Amino acid sequence: MDAHQQKWNETVAQGIIAWLEKRRMAGSYAADAAQAKEQILAMIPAGGSVLRGGSCSTVEMGLWEKIEAMEGVTVFNPYKPGLAPEESIAIRRQGLTADLMLASSNAITLDGRLVNLDGMGNRVAAMAFGPKKVVLVVGMNKVAPDLESAKARVKNYAAPVNAMRLNLDTPCNKNGLCADCRAPKRICNFWSIIEGSMVPNRIHVILVGEDLGY
Ligand code: SF4
Repeated sequence: MDAHQQKWNETVAQGIIAWLEKRRMAGSYAADAAQAKEQILAMIPAGGSVLRGGSCSTVEMGLWEKIEAMEGVTVFNPYKPGLAPEESIAIRRQGLTADLMLASSNAITLDGRLVNLDGMGNRVAAMAFGPKKVVLVVGMNKVAPDLESAKARVKNYAAPVNAMRLNLDTPCNKNGLCADCRAPKRICNFWSIIEGSMVPNRIHVILVGEDLGY
């Protein structure tokens, strides 16, 4: 990424952060994933608990190995290999009582609205209520000009790519495009648009000046 792209990322991010603040959320900017990682690790409460939200961004950043190695920190990880489906669901429920949830957002608008789409709904539920603090790490590739384009990004890109990642039996896994299916494995069941937070600064968005996740 050249200096002009970096300048665009930081300038646009500062505008989004100003909007997040108007919406009683917090925001910060990290020029790259390494800086974002430092910011996030400093937010993990000593001796506290952390819910792992479904997020490729946090996996790409190598955050979970670091958090799981922190002494006294409990991680609620519903994605642990080998878990039975009912065990994974039980951990998602337990995670609603966590001190902090760490995830990403499928999209963010220029005016600071967070747009997400879930299959089961546990991720958007925890973003809305449960964990005392919600930290969302969002690459600047997920910025959309407005609500309509944010929803289009999620439906036409993020959801099909996730269906491919999980090799789901859905039309988008085969064709790359949404067919508004009714497949049992449909991952587009629960929309969430976060417009603000009644609890000031409960949600903190870290915008990162590089591509992360999808
Ligand atoms: S509705 Fe179905 S086809 Fe469309 S993105 Fe979601 S899972 Fe894929």
